[in-house]
Amino acid sequence: MVKSKYSHISFWKGKKLSKEHREKLRLAKLGKKGIGMTGRKHSEETRLKMRIKKIGYIPWNKNKKMSEEYCEIMRKSQTGIKRFKTRDGNHHNWKGEKASLYAIHVWIRRRKYKPTVCEECGIKPPCDLANISQEYKRDVNDYEWLCRKCHMTKDGRLEKARERMSILNMKQ
Ligand SMILES: [Zn+2]
Repeated sequence: MVKSKYSHISFWKGKKLSKEHREKLRLAKLGKKGIGMTGRKHSEETRLKMRIKKIGYIPWNKNKKMSEEYCEIMRKSQTGIKRFKTRDGNHHNWKGEKASLYAIHVWIRRRKYKPTVCEECGIKPPCDLANISQEYKRDVNDYEWLCRKCHMTKDGRLEKARERMSILNMKQ
């Protein structure tokens, strides 16, 4: 596209190419293909050749473990690196403690490491992120990963449900 030198609006805006011009462009494009392999396919033969070439090929890093020393170097080099410029307090829309419960929940969910088992019973896989202090603070340590049952008993929901059930049974 050609830009006019007077403004940011495209030179072509509101203008149409003539039919002849369009036809010329179409013909010029015909039979032309993208750069390299884009839009093209290898033939069966070539694909077979490529497959044969790869037989017995072992990646250089297969079954290799990084040495402790190297791990340490990597860890040190990576810690403290700022990957996000606008995050948390830096962000213009950061609401801090005023954020909604849901927003805080999502924030915690992203930050809190999820264990493989429930933090309370240690048997079932956790599915609920439970708040401990019932104040819903923006604090990772104020939350724990619980399974559904543990979460219900902690909240007292199971007790309430049982009560309701017993009342229903009495009525019958
Ligand atoms: Zn549990």
